[in-house]
Amino acid sequence: MSKTINKNPCIICVAITGSVPTKENNPNIPISVNEQIESTQEAFEAGASIVHCHVRNDDGSVSSDPIKFKKLKDGITKFCPGMIIQFSTGGRSGSGRERGYMLPHCPDMASLTVGSNNFPNRVYENSPELIDWLSSEMIRYKIVPEIEAFDLSHIFQASQLFKYNKLKGKPYIQFVMGVKNAMPVDRQVFEFYIETVKRLMPSANWCAAGTGKYQKIINEWSIELGGHTRTGMEDNIRISKHQLASSNAELVFLTKEICSKYERPVANWKEARQILDIPLRT
Ligand code: MG
Repeated sequence: MSKTINKNPCIICVAITGSVPTKENNPNIPISVNEQIESTQEAFEAGASIVHCHVRNDDGSVSSDPIKFKKLKDGITKFCPGMIIQFSTGGRSGSGRERGYMLPHCPDMASLTVGSNNFPNRVYENSPELIDWLSSEMIRYKIVPEIEAFDLSHIFQASQLFKYNKLKGKPYIQFVMGVKNAMPVDRQVFEFYIETVKRLMPSANWCAAGTGKYQKIINEWSIELGGHTRTGMEDNIRISKHQLASSNAELVFLTKEICSKYERPVANWKEARQILDIPLRT
């Protein structure tokens, strides 16, 4: 694939917390809802226009408590007006339908994995029945899905779900690479993912996320090739081998530098909503 000269605005998503990193790994990771709101505001002011949200218990353990999600959404709406709020329905914070019990709080978006794969120490299980239920809840509450493609088959599966109206909204597909035992960081596969999305879902937008030391590489590839990208401490807690990230905002700034390198403007929240076709909820 030749280098594109696509200078469209790049949407930066910040995944602030996730389910895995702890204060022991990096004391700067936001855990409490108040810390999360503060960290999101800094990242928003730095240029992120989507926030990907997980919640935790105060001791740092994983949670899927809908009340916490609601508090987080209210705080972000107040302090980051216009920012696109995305809840995670990922499988590390709960099991079965518990993963979607916060959807009635109507975030703008929610992540959705449409197939199963391996994670570092377990199977990431997404049964057809669960996917159908999460999809129907997203339609019910007018939530735009972000498809997490851990595998090529997930892109095909997503296109089928949109085709048969089991998912609605403009498709937004995120390629996830670098998770141990799932798809590694591979340039040829990355380019094939892009081609496949364009072939199966011509109206789709795409973005990508890499984990750990691969975050920067995936940021670079997505920005270079005209897509959108994700950063944040959920995926990576370091800015270099020997230095921990001081904040989510710092990672957003580093991503913006890559945008400058490839002459991609950074999308503000209005542009991001327009690109993804997500109106402000009133
Ligand atoms: Mg997540």
